[in-house]
Amino acid sequence: MKEIRLHDKTFVPYINKDKIAQAIAKLSSQIDDYAQDETIVFVVVLKGSFIFAADLAKSYNKNAIFEFYRLKSYEGTTSTGNVQILVDIDDELIKNKKVVVIEDIVDSGNTLEKIIEELTKKQPADLKIATLFYKPKAYTKDFKIDFVGMEIPNDFIVGYGLDYNELGRNLPEIYRLKEEKMIDFILFGPPGAGKGTQAQILKDKLGLTYIATGDLFRHHIKNQTPLGQKAKSYIDKGDLVPDEITIDMIKEIISDPNIKGIIFDGFPRTVKQAEFLDKLMAEKGLIIDALIALNVPEERLIKRLLQRGQTSGRSDDNEQTIKHRLDLYHQKTEPVKEYYKKQNKYHEVHGVGTIEEVNQRLLDVINSIKLRS
Ligand code: AMP
Repeated sequence: MKEIRLHDKTFVPYINKDKIAQAIAKLSSQIDDYAQDETIVFVVVLKGSFIFAADLAKSYNKNAIFEFYRLKSYEGTTSTGNVQILVDIDDELIKNKKVVVIEDIVDSGNTLEKIIEELTKKQPADLKIATLFYKPKAYTKDFKIDFVGMEIPNDFIVGYGLDYNELGRNLPEIYRLKEEKMIDFILFGPPGAGKGTQAQILKDKLGLTYIATGDLFRHHIKNQTPLGQKAKSYIDKGDLVPDEITIDMIKEIISDPNIKGIIFDGFPRTVKQAEFLDKLMAEKGLIIDALIALNVPEERLIKRLLQRGQTSGRSDDNEQTIKHRLDLYHQKTEPVKEYYKKQNKYHEVHGVGTIEEVNQRLLDVINSIKLRS
């Protein structure tokens, strides 16, 4: 399976035939248990559910009646919240029957709410909801979804009956919208500048991938990997881990081509690492868009780091190593600024203020870079 184009957008393979078949087998057996000896009226919600309903029908062995309901809620890739009934079902076909609604996907729940409201008016004996896909993060309603084939993240998907402006329904497997590229940048600054705190917020707000070499090293150390064992003595003393070790670790990370953008924190820490990063990004067809430096006065850094040392349990946050790390920053890491200044990619942000204030300053810079590119 490869990428496909529908209208103006690109989609990448996401859920294969086997996974779909497993989800349908599970749903079918759950509905089988629920039906006991009674005939179920399946209300198939068109158009998106037509392939799912056909496969579910084939795997369901008890008596069943199929009715079709047609609603419309999506325009483009976002739910409009405005649901219209295009094809209705006569009231007597539902009245006093055991009804199972067949949905391809439950997203915001707007369509589902309208379906439940309308079908309830027709007085079924019982009403249950079955959906092949469910997006818990997008769901805004309280109605219980009785039978769920598979939970998925809040991605826009097509295929297996689901469309993007009517195209893609006939794809036998599920594809998801390829992320539009945003920005790859280095969040720069001395230890204690607040890079980690800010990067976490930016990552969540902008959907970026966050790479923090310090966290990666700590993870390796905790899990006692060979890399962790090599890095530990340097980190404990507040020294830089040698470039070769750091570079090896980074190599494996930027391998997913479908990422929206990357925030680098703690890397590059030397000009050699910066040169390596440019090369590595170029190999992947990517480029560093910016280095954004967080500026914080030195006495404040020391105060923050000593405080962090008392609460975080980081073995390198003591007075002696802090001083050494700041010296190393000036000596080895600060020259990285010049490297990116020469490429016209250097930006500065005042790093003192509330977390929200500093974050807003960073967002302003990121937006200005995005506008230019
Ligand atoms: P941090 O969490 O960014 O403060 O990093 C903690 C420690 O990990 C540093 O003091 C270094 O010993 C090591 N480290 C993190 N990133 C790098 C890097 N890019 N190059 C060398 N050493 C690093």
